[in-house]
Amino acid sequence: MSMTKTFPDYQQTNGWNALLSAREASPALQGDLTSDVLIIGAGWTGIAAAKRWQSLSPEANIVLIDASEIGEGNPGRNSGFLLEIALAEDANPDQLEKMNVCNRLTAATMADILAEIEDTGLPVDISKAGTYRAAASEAGLKSLNNYRAFLNTAGLEFQSLDRAALNSRIGSEFYQEGLYSPNCYLAQPAAAIRALASNLPDSVRLFENTPATRLTQRANGWQVQTPQGTITTHKLVLANNAFSKELGIARSRLVAMYTYAGLTPVLEKSVLDDLGSESNWGLLPTHRLGSTLRQTKDGRLMLRSMHGYEKESPRSEIEVGLKIRLQKRFPQLPSFELEHCWGGAVGFTYNGGAVWGEFKPGLFVSAGCNGGGTVKGTLLGKLLAEAAHGLKVPDVPELFGRASWMPPEPIRRLGFKLSSTIESHQGRHEL
Ligand SMILES: Cc1cc2nc3c(=O)[nH]c(=O)nc-3n(C[C@H](O)[C@H](O)[C@H](O)COP(=O)(O)OP(=O)(O)OC[C@H]3O[C@@H](n4cnc5c(N)ncnc54)[C@H](O)[C@@H]3O)c2cc1C
Repeated sequence: MSMTKTFPDYQQTNGWNALLSAREASPALQGDLTSDVLIIGAGWTGIAAAKRWQSLSPEANIVLIDASEIGEGNPGRNSGFLLEIALAEDANPDQLEKMNVCNRLTAATMADILAEIEDTGLPVDISKAGTYRAAASEAGLKSLNNYRAFLNTAGLEFQSLDRAALNSRIGSEFYQEGLYSPNCYLAQPAAAIRALASNLPDSVRLFENTPATRLTQRANGWQVQTPQGTITTHKLVLANNAFSKELGIARSRLVAMYTYAGLTPVLEKSVLDDLGSESNWGLLPTHRLGSTLRQTKDGRLMLRSMHGYEKESPRSEIEVGLKIRLQKRFPQLPSFELEHCWGGAVGFTYNGGAVWGEFKPGLFVSAGCNGGGTVKGTLLGKLLAEAAHGLKVPDVPELFGRASWMPPEPIRRLGFKLSSTIESHQGRHEL
């Protein structure tokens, strides 16, 4: 992918989307438009912002644009874990009051997402399957213990599992120890985001295949350039995650970190019988560089792993790495083929804090998902629309952090390379 692109342009199609029936995209923008509010990015954040903005200002002329197509783009490329409680990276057992607020907001947002998806009547595979978290080595155990302390202090339900118990459930002896927490939904992410986009209010005009390529501040708002037209808008919302920085916002705070996922074909019954007792499960790593694992309802294995700084790696490289990791976890199974293999960009910030708020007059931003922004992005998109209307909202920087400064290139790249080499070495048994 070109480093100068202002939007993601993936080499591989999204495996989750490929499993769904074809969908007709909304037309791309052709010509010039004006709007009261323009939202860039029709993902978890942008769709939530659009819906909330419309409910607060029903008369507003709202335009939502996306560089990709709904389901195919970044919002549908994730592993499908929708947590009802704080992410492990945010979980801090020493700040219980703050964590309780985060947990309450996250749970309420998840309930809204579920209700909205159910309202559409579309056949979305989403269920409260819970999630495993497991560690394969000392490096992972440290984070597992911290997460367990958080769950304990917050009074949240979980079960501790040793190697044998994990093996009997998921069919892998790879992990030394883990836990099971019921507070998580597992979804087919492309189907989920398609459903959420399908019930946008009629007054929100959606243009797909319409990347924003340049922002210009005008006397009474902003003008946004797209390949075949412009949008002149009073208010502008950036909900395009890592790519906000390519439009000139939070350049010193955001990085596009690519990570990769692969899906096997539906496995033979005899192969599935060699796995554990569970048939629809998900496992999150406790180490930052570890791998996410799922068995889907229809009998596939999915693995997400590996990272690329500001650049998508070639399929050949990804495929080999993902297959090795699957084989390490399931040595009893025959060698794996990956039916689908793809990458996605995570909006990464150095301290895990969010890029959120009004950055210039009339320009609002919610970005920096840090690898867990389905539910959190939905929440922050909704809160951004409320804040833009002058409503009192929870203190987002206090609750979810404020993205910290990073040095410019090439120091930044070197710093990431160095820290990822050290962390990969420390967490090498988790990979
Ligand atoms: C492989 C992988 C696995 C993951 N697993 C999980 C998981 O299990 N659970 C979880 O919570 N999170 C997960 N994540 C992270 C999750 O995908 C993101 O946190 C989430 O998608 C963020 O939502 P968003 O709407 O803020 O941003 P995005 O999903 O990045 O959406 C931004 C949208 O903006 C569009 N866009 C970008 N630039 C432009 C432009 N210039 N003009 C117009 N449109 C533009 C993009 O096409 C995209 O549709 C994973 C990510 C990856 C890559």
